[in-house]
Amino acid sequence: MNLRLSADQEAFRRAVCELLCEDSVRDEVARTRRLPADDEPGLLEVYRRLGERGWLATNWPVEHGGLGSSIVEKAILTEQMIVHGIPDVVHTLSIDIVGLAIQRLGTEAQKSSLLPPLAAGRSVGCVLLTEPEIGSDLGGLSARAEPDGDGWRLYGRKVYSLKSQFADFALCAARTTESEVRFHGITVFIVPMRAPGVRVEPLWSMSDERFNEVVLSGIRMTPDDVLGDLDDGWQVLHDLLGIERTGIEFEAKARRLLDAVLDEAERAGSIKNSEYGELLVALDAEVRAGQLLAWQALGDMLDGELDDVRCAMAKWHTTETAKRISELGPEICGLTALLSARDDEAIPGWLLESAFRDAPGLTLASGTSEVMLSLIASAGLGLLS
Ligand SMILES: Cc1cc2nc3c(=O)[nH]c(=O)nc-3n(C[C@H](O)[C@H](O)[C@H](O)COP(=O)(O)OP(=O)(O)OC[C@H]3O[C@@H](n4cnc5c(N)ncnc54)[C@H](O)[C@@H]3O)c2cc1C
Repeated sequence: MNLRLSADQEAFRRAVCELLCEDSVRDEVARTRRLPADDEPGLLEVYRRLGERGWLATNWPVEHGGLGSSIVEKAILTEQMIVHGIPDVVHTLSIDIVGLAIQRLGTEAQKSSLLPPLAAGRSVGCVLLTEPEIGSDLGGLSARAEPDGDGWRLYGRKVYSLKSQFADFALCAARTTESEVRFHGITVFIVPMRAPGVRVEPLWSMSDERFNEVVLSGIRMTPDDVLGDLDDGWQVLHDLLGIERTGIEFEAKARRLLDAVLDEAERAGSIKNSEYGELLVALDAEVRAGQLLAWQALGDMLDGELDDVRCAMAKWHTTETAKRISELGPEICGLTALLSARDDEAIPGWLLESAFRDAPGLTLASGTSEVMLSLIASAGLGLLS
């Protein structure tokens, strides 16, 4: 594995870093962090600025709004956005999950109509998979597509979806055919989110990110709205989480959190406490190990061989590390860590308090830690056969 960036990639990293350090971007991020909890941002101006340069989706072809470069530039962009504190959920969902799936599996018509606005930072995509009774085990989903002429009508309730209140369209899994094999007969549809028959309601939680419940009551779908093959949505779902499971996003989060803890611990003098000193050194090593795992998984993607087990290792390690750091923040930094970014006394851009509230979600979203461990044990180590 070669972890060194080429001269062009290094130049790209510096150019992204320069843009994200501009005062206007910092001001926008600081303003966003102080918004009331029920007023989270959707598309930010910084997304449009990245989009107009082709940087949001660097690895997509030029005709779809990218630069036609490799996945490495994409990973650099993701890392830099997180390191600079840019809210990244809209980006992850729209580009790394929804956009990537359309890029890989969409028809030419789907690609040319949906990808350019996503890449330009003018459109938002979201994901509707989880239901009140199923999360990890998507084979048991109950949303259904009932035949209607040459198409279908979609019915069902989806929960815990992020950013669906801003989304222009969603990737939504529903059952098209009853089958004894539970993973057969699922189809992924591209659903317009502002059409009649789609209702979005908030599901409040302690996180700053608002979850939603999305109720589908008979919205009409045609064969043009199917992503991938009919009844073969399982394959689409497998591909959906590819880049997210490489852990790039999470290793960058862990680094940013640890740096914030280190700065504050140094300021408060707790770094001199030998117990914390040793712990911080150990955490630094774990963050670096997570970075290696994530870039290794990304390297597999670059070679066209997304390795499920290596992705699971990276996802498990990076999210568990980020979660531990979030939870240790208040212990190491003291009460300062519990100041909200909205508090006048907080350091500008303060993130430990919101990270503490977000921590439980890290090891649940896009595959829980237990499911990752089970995959590593069975497919990786052959232990559970
Ligand atoms: C921050 C965040 C963002 C999310 N965003 C979205 C979104 O945009 N769209 C969307 O559709 N969903 C979203 N989700 C939902 C997410 O996909 C589910 O929470 C996740 O799939 C787990 O499902 P569940 O919560 O129903 O838990 P369950 O699957 O019911 O699991 C419950 C517990 O059982 C364990 N478990 C389950 N199966 C196994 C197994 N085979 N082996 C061992 N242990 C197991 C799990 O680890 C967990 O501890 C989001 C969740 C979070 C936290």
